Amino acid sequence: MPENVIIVGSGPAGLTAALYTARANLEPLVVEGAAPYGQLMLTTEVENFPGFPEGILGPELMEKIRTQAGRFGGKFITSDATRVDLSNRPFRVEVGDAVYESNALIVSTGAKARTLGIPGERELLGRGVSSCATCDGFFFRGKEIAIVGGGDSAVEEALFLTRFGSKVTLIHRRDSLRASKIMQERALAHEKMAFVWNTTVGEVLGDTTVTGLLLRNVETGETSELATDALFVAIGHVPNTTLFQGQLDLDDAGYIRVAHPRTNTSVEGVFACGDVVDHIFRQAITAAGTGCAAAIDVERYLETLGH
Ligand code: NAP
Repeated sequence: MPENVIIVGSGPAGLTAALYTARANLEPLVVEGAAPYGQLMLTTEVENFPGFPEGILGPELMEKIRTQAGRFGGKFITSDATRVDLSNRPFRVEVGDAVYESNALIVSTGAKARTLGIPGERELLGRGVSSCATCDGFFFRGKEIAIVGGGDSAVEEALFLTRFGSKVTLIHRRDSLRASKIMQERALAHEKMAFVWNTTVGEVLGDTTVTGLLLRNVETGETSELATDALFVAIGHVPNTTLFQGQLDLDDAGYIRVAHPRTNTSVEGVFACGDVVDHIFRQAITAAGTGCAAAIDVERYLETLGH
């Protein structure tokens, strides 16, 4: 017997979809991934999720939502989906050698951090280069830290890194930040923070660990070196849609197209929610909201099939 619904991905969207479909007695099967719970695992304090006036740690919030979904009959596989086939019914989801079938599918695979693609970045990953301040900030206590990006992520992470580093230098390719005004004000006023404007990073320097960066001023073309012990890359995200290429309609940036405000994708019976759809809001609460919508869309779809 195929499952009623398989949910691929276990961030706020996937787990909220699991909670709602579980409470609708659909016994959802969640392929939660080898590293489950999505991007909130890479954050510290979440201060803007309603219901937690004192704030809550990202991983703790995810544990709570998973427990809540499990309480109503959600089932979990802690491995990555390796292949999906949406061309036939029931849909097939492969997890290594195991094959699971389902009448409906919810895609909530999220997005991941974008990289600069410059020499030294990959080679020194984990040895001074990082895309996760929460994970790696601790390693740079008393050290000089650089961070690239001008959005909310970069500024939020830069402020977080000031807890550890002796100095945090934010390098941005333009002369103004994209981040929200309140975050900008906090960063610009912070005594440990420095800013390098109109500048890109051309290379990460260092043999075994990061020792510096090769910078280029985009206005003058001048190059210079900045000595630093770490480079955090915070320049946005790309959606995790490789599994669905050629099977679902994607936009130019690779995000899954849905029939807003519904969560229907281009394949009937397949629904998508969270950051794999949304490149605008990208908040835990909006992801959770669309996860709820996808669950209700699935319920209605299965009813039309007589399930
Ligand atoms: P983002 O808003 O897309 O910002 C990406 C930043 O990286 C931009 O400043 C961009 O420069 C820069 N950038 C992109 N590619 C680059 C490259 N190759 N080299 C150098 N710089 C590059 O991404 P985000 O900061 O991850 O935020 C994404 C969304 O999540 C936003 O809507 C944001 O508001 C939201 N968010 C909210 C919170 C919060 O509310 N607490 C926290 C984090 C994120 P340009 O400015 O020149 O384009």
